Amino acid sequence: MARTVKRAFKYRFYPTPGQAAELARTFGCVRLVYNMALQARTEAWTLRRQRVSYNATSALLTGWKKTEELAFLNEVSSVPLQQALRHLQVAFTNFWAKRARYPSFKSRKRSRRSAEYTTSAFRFRDGELRLAKMSAPLDIVWSRPLPAGASLSTVTVSQDAAGRWFVSLLCDDVIEQVPTLGVVGIDAGLDSLLTLSTGEKIVNPRHERANRQRLAKAQRNLARKKKGSANRAKARLKVARVHARIGDRRRDHLHKLTTRLVRENQTLVIEDLTVRNMVKNRSLARAISDAGWRQFRTMLEYKADWHGRNLVVVDRWFPSSKLCSTCGALAERMPLNVRTWTCRCGTVHDRDVNAARNILAAGLAVTACGDGVRPQRESSRTGRSSAKQENPRATKGVPVL
Ligand SMILES: [Zn+2]
Repeated sequence: MARTVKRAFKYRFYPTPGQAAELARTFGCVRLVYNMALQARTEAWTLRRQRVSYNATSALLTGWKKTEELAFLNEVSSVPLQQALRHLQVAFTNFWAKRARYPSFKSRKRSRRSAEYTTSAFRFRDGELRLAKMSAPLDIVWSRPLPAGASLSTVTVSQDAAGRWFVSLLCDDVIEQVPTLGVVGIDAGLDSLLTLSTGEKIVNPRHERANRQRLAKAQRNLARKKKGSANRAKARLKVARVHARIGDRRRDHLHKLTTRLVRENQTLVIEDLTVRNMVKNRSLARAISDAGWRQFRTMLEYKADWHGRNLVVVDRWFPSSKLCSTCGALAERMPLNVRTWTCRCGTVHDRDVNAARNILAAGLAVTACGDGVRPQRESSRTGRSSAKQENPRATKGVPVL
C-alpha cells in the first residue's frame, strides 16, 4: 500500500548580499505585522470583548500599508505578511482549543527569523527556485534529492541564530507502507539516549560530550563579556554555532533512528514524559536530553502516521523501573544509581531494559483494550494521554528487595 503525504525538505542556501538584505527586510516586516495584529486582537478582546477574525486582520494590514509610516510594508512580498496573519490565526485557534498558551509577541532577538511563501510568491522550474521580489534564483545546496516531479506548495526561508540560511520546501511524497510484526517498548534515559525492550541501547551521538563541554565553555565566556560590547556579540555567535552543531548532529541521529524503528515495528510504545518533566532539573545534560526526547517523539509521531504504524503513549505513573518485567513483583526502592538488580524470582535486570519491557507490556495491554490508538498530534501538545495509567501486572506485585 502506498500513501501520499506532505513532506518538508530542508536545505542550506547562500544568498547574495542583495537577497540577504531583502530577506532580512521581509523577516522584519513579518515580525512587525504579526505583532501589530496580535496587539489589535488583544486590545479588541480585553477592552471590548470582541474576537477579531483572520479576515479582519487582513483588512487591517491593507489599511496599514496605506499609511505613510507603514508604507515600507509594500516593499516586500505581500505573501509572507499574509502568512504571518494565518500563523497568528492558528496560534489563536490553538489557544481557544486549550492546546497552547496565549500567543506572544515575536522578539527581534529571540524569535525565529522566517518567512513563508506560497505558490503565487515563488517559481520553481528546472531545479531553480526564485522568490518574489528577487531576480536571481537561490543558491541552494541540494544535499538530498527532492521526490521526482515534486511540485512545491510552500517555501519557508529562515535564518538561525548561528547566521545560517535555510529553505524548507513542502511537497507531496509517496510512502510505501510495508506491514511488519515487530513490537517495541522505548525508555528514555540520560546515559544512553534510549533503551529498547529488545535489550538494545542507543547511545548519544559521538562527540556530543565534547560539544557539550565546548558549549559550557562558550557560555561561561559569554557571561564574562560586557553588555552591548562587540566582543559580547562575537561570544554570542560562538554559543549559537556550538548549539547549532549539537542540534544538527542530534537531528540527524534521531532521523536515522526513528526511520529505522518505524520500518522495523508495527507497534511502538513510548512513555509520556510530561509528568517527569514537572520535576525541575536545570542541568545542561537534562535540558538537552529533554529537547532530544521531544524531537524524537515528534518525529516518531509523524513517521508512524506515514508508515501506518501504531504509536502508543503510556503515562509514566506506573513504576516502570521498580517493577519486575518477568514476575510482576515490585521492588521497594530503586535509587537512580542502581543500574542492575536481581528480583526475588531470580531474574537479573538491567534497569533500563526492564523499564522498556514494562512500557511495552503496558502499551500492548492498552492496545488489547482497544484504547491504545489515539489522536497523535493532539496528545503531544496537551501532554495528555488516553492510555490507561496502571500496568495490569503491577497489581499482582508483592514488594520485595
Ligand atoms: Zn521477578
